[in-house]
Amino acid sequence: MGRSWDTPGPDGKIFSGMLNPDKRSTWLSDTTSQPVSNFMGFGINKKVGRYVGVLDAEKFSGVKVYQGRGVGGGSLVNGGMAVTPKRSHFEHILPNVDAAQMYGTYFPRANAALGVNHIDQAWFESSPWYQFARVGRKTAHRSGFATTFVPNVYDFDYMKREAAGTAQASALGGEVIYGNNAGKKSLDKTYLAQAAATGRLTISPLHRVTAVTPATGGGYRVTIEQIDEQGAVIATKNVTADKVFFAAGSIGTSKLLLSMKAQGLLPNLSSQVGEGWGNNGNVMVGRANHMWDATGSKQSTIPTLGIDNWDDPTASIFAEIAPCRPGSRPT
Ligand SMILES: Cc1cc2nc3c(=O)[nH]c(=O)nc-3n(C[C@H](O)[C@H](O)[C@H](O)COP(=O)(O)OP(=O)(O)OC[C@H]3O[C@@H](n4cnc5c(N)ncnc54)[C@H](O)[C@@H]3O)c2cc1C
Repeated sequence: MGRSWDTPGPDGKIFSGMLNPDKRSTWLSDTTSQPVSNFMGFGINKKVGRYVGVLDAEKFSGVKVYQGRGVGGGSLVNGGMAVTPKRSHFEHILPNVDAAQMYGTYFPRANAALGVNHIDQAWFESSPWYQFARVGRKTAHRSGFATTFVPNVYDFDYMKREAAGTAQASALGGEVIYGNNAGKKSLDKTYLAQAAATGRLTISPLHRVTAVTPATGGGYRVTIEQIDEQGAVIATKNVTADKVFFAAGSIGTSKLLLSMKAQGLLPNLSSQVGEGWGNNGNVMVGRANHMWDATGSKQSTIPTLGIDNWDDPTASIFAEIAPCRPGSRPT
């Protein structure tokens, strides 16, 4: 639906950073829509030109959903944390899926293809860029909670070079939710690049699917609007296919299926389409810190630690220890 993020803008960069977002940051809106819109009473959203920027904050009644827009989807804007779920939890939630196969084959395969790696713990302990995480860990331990390191698709060797000043700063340059100009192995650089290399994949950026209906003679007819970089529809196309996979994300797929169901355009849809939808359980909470135990102004945008309280029978929780530089990544 969004653009292909492979061409640098006039500043030589593909994405705009979080401290100085421009039109590349935000999907078809005149202002940014930061997760925390005010800090100490001051609005921190910025005016940007209307453009097919990389981060959308789609508003519904009672919920705002952040989504990546472009070839690579959410992987372009996310924090890169790549958690293999605890097996006991996985088996509990998805009892019909073969856990042995998932843990023996698919999770290792995906982790390898995505370049999932761990931070060098000695570096973590000494780097000013993770002082915020060490402070968070200390207070968590003081309250009796355990912490654990979380792997990531961001290349931690690259991050060390950023810290040494020998590579272009991305995670250490305030980049993440509006895209990383380097370091992160987003899907456009991994799975999609591999698929494109086969020569059997065609990606049509700036195309939005509006309907999927049965085609006469079998298969499906997909109606697609081509949009320009300001979101105006410049063409409407129809293609037919034997098989159509919906991979438009939780919101995009639900919207399409619900719309087809409500209009009666796609038969045999489950009666449960549109039911049981929920958020991913991720709650963002900021907390004030003692001035004598500061988190520091140098904060990597890539989280590496979590507070692990999974096994608590009454308050089972896993909390990412995320950086919070006002105006940047306020989680
Ligand atoms: C700011 C942020 C930080 C996050 N951090 C993490 C993290 O650290 N670790 C983690 O595991 N997860 C994280 N996530 C969540 C993760 O990115 C998503 O769960 C994941 O990207 C979902 O993948 P998906 O393929 O289901 O959907 P998406 O990645 O959303 O891909 C769907 C694609 O379909 C497109 N689309 C939608 N509707 C249409 C349509 N009608 N026609 C054509 N195209 C359409 C969308 O624009 C998008 O490109 C984060 C998400 C955000 C927004």
